[in-house]
Amino acid sequence: MNTRPTEPDSDNYSLLLNKIDRTNRLPTLENKIIHVYAIRFIIVTIPNYCSHCGTELYTRQIEGRERAYCTHCEKAVYRNAKPCAGTIIVDDSEVLLVERTNPPDVGSWSLPAGFLELEEPPAEAAARELTEETGLSVSADGLRLFDTNLVSHPDDTHVLVIIYQTTRAATTGTVTAGSDAADARFWKIDELLACHESIETGYESILRKAISMS
Ligand SMILES: [Zn+2]
Repeated sequence: MNTRPTEPDSDNYSLLLNKIDRTNRLPTLENKIIHVYAIRFIIVTIPNYCSHCGTELYTRQIEGRERAYCTHCEKAVYRNAKPCAGTIIVDDSEVLLVERTNPPDVGSWSLPAGFLELEEPPAEAAARELTEETGLSVSADGLRLFDTNLVSHPDDTHVLVIIYQTTRAATTGTVTAGSDAADARFWKIDELLACHESIETGYESILRKAISMS
């Protein structure tokens, strides 16, 4: 049985936007709850369309879970996490980190990483992103697969980060912040935290593990 997506109710939608506007000025717990509810309301009620034919999508139970379905193309429209690749460069007890300029966690520090280009192997993407963001070069063949991290963003997009690891000695060049990085430098994790800087959510334990295993 198909369930048509809920249409946005324009009156409720306007009321909600007004409420968000008012609640932004009053950061009480109640208003924060209203804000979260309102954002969920907007995300849930945005219509989705088939990227192939433009038909509005229905939802249908397929393979044990509710999935978007195009009745014109007669097939499920799958949603998958986007693959990303990054590298942890370890130098003794320090790791090379970049200060993020893109959501999530803008201003926090994380490993240099980015999305894979179409048909680009993950290790090559990791090496390319390292050079673009930090100025260091490394051979993709010398990167060791270290871990993965599935990240869910507030806007309901999902990213699978494929994490490689190598040492400073395996790289060439001078550390210089490049694209998508406000700054780039080697940090001891505890020194970074003592400076009241933050690490991108979900990465502190991965970085500590990379240092301990090097
Ligand atoms: Zn379609």
